[in-house]
Amino acid sequence: MTTATATKYVFSFGDGKADGGATMKNELGGKGANLAEMTSIGLPVPAGFTISTGVCTYYYDNGETYPEQLRDDVAAALEKIEKAMGAKFGCTENPLLLSCRSGARESMPGMMDTVLNIGLNDTTVAALAKKSGNEQFAWDSYRRFVQMYGDVVLEMKTLDKKEIDPFEHLLEAKKEAEGVEFDSGLSAAGLKELVKEFKAAIKERTGNDFPDEPLDQLWGAIGAVFSSWMNDRAMVYRRQYGIPHEWGTAVNVQAMVFGNLSEDSASGVGLTRDCSLGDPGFRGDYLINAQGEDVVAGIRSTKRVEESLHDDMPEAFDRLNEIGKILEKHYKDVQDIEFTVQHGKVWMLQTRNAKRTGFAAVRIAVDLVNEGLIDPKEALNPRRIPADDLNQLLQPIFDPDAKAAADAEGRLLTKGINAGPGATYGKICFHAEDAEAQYNADNDVQLILVRRETSPEDLRGMQAAKGILTAFGGASSHAALVSRQMGKVCIVGATELDIDYQAGTMSVGDKTFNEGDYISIDGFTGEVFEGSVTTKPSEVLDVVIHKAGDPEKSETYKRYAQLMEWVDEHRTLNVRTNADSPDQAAEAIAFGAEGIGLCRTEHMFFHHVDEIREMILAETKEVRQKAIDKLLPYQRSDFEGLFRAMEGRPVTVRLLDPPLHEFLSERHLEEDPALAGQLAKMTGKSEEEIHRRVEGLHESNPMLGHRGCRLGIVYPEITAMQARAIMEAACAVKKEGIDVHPEIMIPLVGFLAEFKDQEKIVRAQAEAVMAETGQKVEYLVGTMIEVPRAAVCADQIATGAEFFSFGTNDLTQTALGISRDDYGGFIGYYREHDIVPNDPFQTIDFDGVGGLMKIGVEGGRSSRKDLKIGICGEHGGDPASVKFCHSIGLNYVSCSPFRVPIARLAAAQAAVSQG
Ligand code: PEP
Ligand code: MG
Repeated sequence: MTTATATKYVFSFGDGKADGGATMKNELGGKGANLAEMTSIGLPVPAGFTISTGVCTYYYDNGETYPEQLRDDVAAALEKIEKAMGAKFGCTENPLLLSCRSGARESMPGMMDTVLNIGLNDTTVAALAKKSGNEQFAWDSYRRFVQMYGDVVLEMKTLDKKEIDPFEHLLEAKKEAEGVEFDSGLSAAGLKELVKEFKAAIKERTGNDFPDEPLDQLWGAIGAVFSSWMNDRAMVYRRQYGIPHEWGTAVNVQAMVFGNLSEDSASGVGLTRDCSLGDPGFRGDYLINAQGEDVVAGIRSTKRVEESLHDDMPEAFDRLNEIGKILEKHYKDVQDIEFTVQHGKVWMLQTRNAKRTGFAAVRIAVDLVNEGLIDPKEALNPRRIPADDLNQLLQPIFDPDAKAAADAEGRLLTKGINAGPGATYGKICFHAEDAEAQYNADNDVQLILVRRETSPEDLRGMQAAKGILTAFGGASSHAALVSRQMGKVCIVGATELDIDYQAGTMSVGDKTFNEGDYISIDGFTGEVFEGSVTTKPSEVLDVVIHKAGDPEKSETYKRYAQLMEWVDEHRTLNVRTNADSPDQAAEAIAFGAEGIGLCRTEHMFFHHVDEIREMILAETKEVRQKAIDKLLPYQRSDFEGLFRAMEGRPVTVRLLDPPLHEFLSERHLEEDPALAGQLAKMTGKSEEEIHRRVEGLHESNPMLGHRGCRLGIVYPEITAMQARAIMEAACAVKKEGIDVHPEIMIPLVGFLAEFKDQEKIVRAQAEAVMAETGQKVEYLVGTMIEVPRAAVCADQIATGAEFFSFGTNDLTQTALGISRDDYGGFIGYYREHDIVPNDPFQTIDFDGVGGLMKIGVEGGRSSRKDLKIGICGEHGGDPASVKFCHSIGLNYVSCSPFRVPIARLAAAQAAVSQG
């Protein structure tokens, strides 16, 4: 029994009134909240009710049962629908039919289940036929219902995708018998027989009769939708997009309206503007005399709203455009809608903020500001442009010459709908599971997943492929939505493709391709080419990096530049780059880097391996010094290049850090049998002595061994050489009239004494060089915080260090006790089993490593109030980690050059979302 204080589980909408609204996504899910909102703002929405996400939580917490009051609440809400629609559920004269759909807080397109036409049985179908005056429609609806209910609720859907679906098999046989191409062409009599055959198939496979009682059907559907929250594909999707499993789904029960009622009825999906490139104007796909699922599944070739709806149904076309404008104005964003036209009248079944490519996201955000719908700050909302999606503007396109050659050679095979931008090439792969297996065997494999259409089960295969190509589907089909979101190159609806899964072939006209053959696809134009067409970077890259494109002529670049201007106005966190060469530094500056946050000096040594090996093999100070002296000029000129490229921006140079085995170990000697001889000659030792020395240098765990400042402490001449090279370069460049701000960074410090030891050497060299050159250069000496002890003792270390930089690669390794080099063997398993929410080497482990960082920041600033603190681990380019760094008050993040724009955007978003 319900009481006045009972929790509200069921929210009605209809007749212009709704219990909920758009702000209640947490309780009602996205679909339910927006159905309520559209009802309230006067749009035509079939009446219905939403069972809250709280019931889903209850369902899983209580052994898949419902709260006691739910049955009564549903019965009461059902009565309201009946009143609003003037029909009765289960009535044998004027039957109301219902749909039952999932709807989570964040949309999870196609991942959960739906049942349509609930309420049909042998009696109500006759009433529906009589009332509609269309027997074929009534039986088609019944046939669809039995099939959908059988698949979703009675679990007829085969788990093995390669196995034959009994319903599809029966349907195909019937179409062949009647000589029709589409399901909608089947006769009423044929459909009647099909319903019988479907029910028999259900009985045979499950042992159960199909339920005739409408209320039993409804509760069966509700249970199936709640259960679908925990199906495998929904869990994979949530993991990919960081949606918590605890959120649960709502269930939306709504009166059916029928797009398959007549020739002046239709079903469709639409976007209030293009979501592939972001062009303005309503567009969509529709099918006359069809139900919505036909459009989404992409089984029949749809028509384009913008091309032909005006002729087919002029009033509905005008109404849809009008509704599109109302929705954009109301939601201040592009909407992705589902609609049904029943006897010429438009009904809205769904609206949600549209998923979009990074391209479209930038264009739409900039356009909406220009149209006065939002302000620049709102344009930066991470919901509008997820920082990582900016990557797509930096996607490769076909190399124009290679593309021209492919055109001239007649290699253009066909054209589909451009659904995910970028260009790629790869080997044809027909099955998602095969794509996944090939990817697991080789992460670099270039695959194009080629399917007739994709379904949510293909998600893992889509993740594994570089590109996706389908024969059916429109711009809003599953393949298009999901690929766009993943930033994959994607073409859908390439209807000339004839794909034969059994034979493992794809044909276009008289050309046939086998699994493993190369093709190339252009997600900007929808073109499919034979063989591989080489790719080249994006327009933005051309302008920004290659200085090849004309900034005035590239609209894409201009929008990018406008966005980045807003980004820089709003962010407070500085963005630096991790760069070790003048080229990298120049790229990073072009991307907006404000300094170098990490120059790994050992990377400069990669070109001088002989001298480094000589240094490593040295057993006396004198011999070591000789080797080090050879390195000094190389180092000095490398630093000069870097300082010149950075033109006065701060440059953090880290002293030598790596485990020495990276340069010389037993593995090197084994792999190159001549090496010991060469080293013997170089050092005047015997080969045997070389082997003995290398053996002596062996460490069980070199990452925790003699590296970082430990090297400079035991071999102070290395630190002295590096400090001298840095300061000689700084003084020389300063003398050229270029400002320099070196920040010398001591790695892997855990004890203040370690820092002091190294600082003393650095300062002695710095003062000596300045005295020798007569130049004065302002420099800082600071440290990395990358072992837990340094974070915990940061107050002590900051008494010496003038700046901190969190080395979160090592801090993660040492805090979690997980080797950064070989954790790949189990991290996938950990993620799949929700042991860790993310790969901790990509996104900061906020509680653990993040906790240490907070301690480090507080401790450091307790001793040195204005201590400058940054991060230079790989996490510095990860948007979620950037947000965290902003929240704990870091001064800058540092990341690889190509992630700089992403880090800048993430920094602005962190500032904006903090208010
Ligand atoms: C780190 O440990 O985070 C770091 C930046 O240093 P490296 O990756 O060179 O060890
Ligand atoms: Mg490190």
